[in-house]
Amino acid sequence: MEENHKNQQENPFSIFYYRGEVWIQKEKAKAKKLKKTSWWKKKKSSGICYYCKRKFKPNELTMDHIIPISRGGESIKENIVPCCKECNSKKKSLLPIEWEEYLQNLKKV
Ligand SMILES: [Zn+2]
Repeated sequence: MEENHKNQQENPFSIFYYRGEVWIQKEKAKAKKLKKTSWWKKKKSSGICYYCKRKFKPNELTMDHIIPISRGGESIKENIVPCCKECNSKKKSLLPIEWEEYLQNLKKV
């Protein structure tokens, strides 16, 4: 029974909780506003993906919440990073624990 299937206890994001649809809409609106700020434009113009550290054209980067809004992450500068499309789609398709593994592997390269 050592090899248990991935359960919630292993999930590094499990301390965050679902805050409700109204809250999610509010954070999404906040993110939209942040997209228009010079802070975000400056971040994006660096062209570096926060996760894989590769360089992209600024318009190839998207806004990503390190802790997704759906998991209780807020639309604050500390939680928002530029992210390439590849990392973005990986992050969406992987379980949080698998995403963590992906990040660990990136660091090793
Ligand atoms: Zn990336």
